Amino acid sequence: MTGRYGSIEAVLPEVRALLGERVTTSPDERRHHGTDEGWQDPAAPEAVAFPHSTEEVARLVRLCTEARVPVIPFGAGTSFEGGVGALHGGLCLDLSGLSRILAVHDSDLDCLVEAGVRRTQLEEHLGRRGLFFSVDPGADATIGGMAATGASGTTTVGYGTMREAVLGLTVVLAGGEVVHTGGRARKSSAGYDLTHLLLGSEGTLGVITEVALRLHGIPEASAVGRAGFAALAQAVQTAIEIMQRGLGPVRLELLDEVQVAASNAYSGLDLPRRPHLLVEFHGTPGAVAEQVAAAGEVAAAHGAQDWRSTSDAAERRRLWKIRHEAYYAARALRPAVRGMVTDVCVPLSRLADCIAETRADLDASGIPAPILGHVGDGNFHVVLLFDPEDPVESAQVRAAHDRLVQRALGMGGTCTGEHGVGHGKLRYLAAERGAAAVAAMRAVKAALDPQGIMNPGKVIPPE
Ligand SMILES: Cc1cc2nc3c(=O)[nH]c(=O)nc-3n(C[C@H](O)[C@H](O)[C@H](O)COP(=O)(O)OP(=O)(O)OC[C@H]3O[C@@H](n4cnc5c(N)ncnc54)[C@H](O)[C@@H]3O)c2cc1C
Repeated sequence: MTGRYGSIEAVLPEVRALLGERVTTSPDERRHHGTDEGWQDPAAPEAVAFPHSTEEVARLVRLCTEARVPVIPFGAGTSFEGGVGALHGGLCLDLSGLSRILAVHDSDLDCLVEAGVRRTQLEEHLGRRGLFFSVDPGADATIGGMAATGASGTTTVGYGTMREAVLGLTVVLAGGEVVHTGGRARKSSAGYDLTHLLLGSEGTLGVITEVALRLHGIPEASAVGRAGFAALAQAVQTAIEIMQRGLGPVRLELLDEVQVAASNAYSGLDLPRRPHLLVEFHGTPGAVAEQVAAAGEVAAAHGAQDWRSTSDAAERRRLWKIRHEAYYAARALRPAVRGMVTDVCVPLSRLADCIAETRADLDASGIPAPILGHVGDGNFHVVLLFDPEDPVESAQVRAAHDRLVQRALGMGGTCTGEHGVGHGKLRYLAAERGAAAVAAMRAVKAALDPQGIMNPGKVIPPE
């Protein structure tokens, strides 16, 4: 707790009266809730509450507002930029108890879920009805956490990010007011777009308690192609040409040779140790067959060595499991140390240069660092494996990370395509958006959260 904030003791008796056993100050729970998958030091909240409804969230936020106690929302803790850390103490709201799928409207292709619903829970529920929700970050995140970070994933090149997938939100603002930001209409010109203001706000403007989502019908046919390349540049150029020719992939993923070696070891594979591309198409059987064949031709023209494609469901699942395990495979390259996972995104025409310069820079530094990514969007990730106890390695990693972000910004890109700012990327926001834009964000924050209690220390850099 810091001076501008009130003591948790001021609210605990009333929180206990409201939630009974569903609030804890246990050190283990506090530590868990102050830790995500990122490289920043954990910061435990002073207490953790487990509300079960929007009304309970609103009452908790109201209590915290009155006592100036920080409120930190927690979904599944799978984010990478320190977003769940309680930098100024306060009360963590674990949203996992808001886990109901409230409605599915099959013929309108939309649904309404509570914020704590997990991605795989929704996938299973919808799959039985022939529907799917398209945003797939790989991790079993909550829908509320995905909305809060503006998440995306492997299918974004075909179906969009959370910013395209969310129709509306129910949000508890600082002060405890409950606001509905959108409805079920596919589009609306009614007033300010609060939905998109809240998406990606990482708990700094309010607590999301319900999310209305666009859905899709499971396509009639799907096929995946994969190929290895002698050089990273060939793989990246293939991805760029697949996009520029409008072949319409719904997934287009790169694993560089360091990542392929890691995935071989971790997932028991024997892929040739070369950069690989995975590409998926959805549609009618005829259209998918044409798209896959055209992608194979593009890959061959760029020197692909072993292009293969499959429409077999089990084989497709196996390939995407490898991609989804890639982060854990990368971590296993150096199990005893920490991984700094970072992502940048650049315009497609600069992707080849950005990845090539990054690979050369990482190789020169000697830091084990696989590159993988959603290259169809110009987005890639680097997992930098370093020992935080070693000051030389830590300094090297921070410097390589700074160079990566500056390189992406210099190419007209962004410091984060999908992981968000948290507090890990605070120092890059002004460089990317400019001082005036950051001042405008600060004004929005001050208007909606005048006491600064909503997830303080995140997204907006201090003045
Ligand atoms: C293996 C792996 C792969 C990943 N791949 C991707 C990827 O491809 N694309 C991608 O985008 N991300 C990826 N991620 C990161 C992560 O899954 C996403 O950032 C995800 O959206 C976080 O959801 P969560 O429920 O875990 O949120 P948390 O980590 O719990 O929280 C994230 C932030 O959102 C806030 N928050 C959480 N819930 C709410 C709420 N209901 N209301 C308001 N604020 C809230 C928190 O305070 C915090 O600031 C990956 C993570 C892992 C571990």
